Amino acid sequence: MSERVVPSPHLDALRRPLRDLRISVTDRCNLRCTYCMPQETFGRDFIFLRHDDLLRFEEVIRVARQCVALGVRKIRLSGGEPLLRRGIERLVEMLAKLTAVDGRPVEVAMTTNGTLLAKKAQTLKDAGLTRLNVSLDALDGEVFRRATGSAAPVAAVLEGIAAAQAAGLAPLKVNAVVKRGINEDQILPLAAHFRHTDVIMRFIEYMDVGESNGWRLDDVVTARDILASIHAQYPLRALDPQYPGEVAQRWAYVDGGGEIGVIASVSHAFCHDCSRLRLSTDGKLYTCLFANAGHDLRTPLRNGEDDDALRARIARIWQGREDRYSQLRHAMTEGCAGKIEMSYIGG
Ligand code: SAM
Ligand code: SF4
Ligand code: SF4
Repeated sequence: MSERVVPSPHLDALRRPLRDLRISVTDRCNLRCTYCMPQETFGRDFIFLRHDDLLRFEEVIRVARQCVALGVRKIRLSGGEPLLRRGIERLVEMLAKLTAVDGRPVEVAMTTNGTLLAKKAQTLKDAGLTRLNVSLDALDGEVFRRATGSAAPVAAVLEGIAAAQAAGLAPLKVNAVVKRGINEDQILPLAAHFRHTDVIMRFIEYMDVGESNGWRLDDVVTARDILASIHAQYPLRALDPQYPGEVAQRWAYVDGGGEIGVIASVSHAFCHDCSRLRLSTDGKLYTCLFANAGHDLRTPLRNGEDDDALRARIARIWQGREDRYSQLRHAMTEGCAGKIEMSYIGG
């Protein structure tokens, strides 16, 4: 049998390959997390994208297919809340049929707040979803309400997690953004709750994404402090990364209670091997989570640009990429103006 020839990867200006595509499928959400879509900005009067402005699934697939041809192996659906996008299972099904340049099926992942997951987990699994991350910032109902700016019950998210486990969506990861003064008292309860289960609990440093969350460095609880508080209660040992570019640092409980992760996006930047491209809900490509402008693909898509030209356009965008915002953050005295909101670009 002849060996498959894998083309050399497309590299950006800092010699990083394109491997991951994040797709925001809606800019809307049923929660108002203080660090992402604070109520004061995203109130009743906030104007979300019109339906016609959203990329249609067929358009998303065309972009995804070209990105896959350029090296993407993993596609993550995000938002806003991806489970609010009608027919999302159909998009998962279409994406799961794509084959990466190495001949393997493309991995299709999703990040969700879990509130609508209980009813959808099995359909998502059947549609071909391979990985799922559920965001959960607190177990305590009052802290959860404060963190998410909503009346949604924690129980709905826990039911969603249980349904995902029952559907065989493993390994399931649960992510908590830790913000000082909001939920740092939930680190230990969350760690304890998911010990000795097959769920990997991960803690994320609060980042200065967008312009509306009023980010201050003082509000960041560092990965080091998070680990220290868990280690004091449940001793940990470091695990090796599973692949280059893995954003989470992995740790195991010494007593065999399973694995946790910390994502130190602020205190320990990982731009040097960042391989992610982002597609916004309305069809703009962003080469960094902290970019202040995107590259419009919707216009060429709707003007009849063919696949070869579309692929060449995306390749040029990737080749010109020099972003390394988190690495530069420390050197900057002030944040850059006009950054894009996470709910629009997809976390
Ligand atoms: N609504 C879905 C959810 O919450 O999982 C998907 C979209 S959300 C923007 C994706 C991820 O970004 C979530 O895990 C969320 O906690 C994280 N996130 C949002 N704003 C953040 C911030 N300022 N710092 C760190 N993580 C953030
Ligand atoms: Fe919604 Fe997710 Fe942002 Fe929270 S983090 S407001 S759940 S999009
Ligand atoms: Fe990637 Fe930009 Fe984040 Fe650096 S700051 S890891 S380049 S998304």
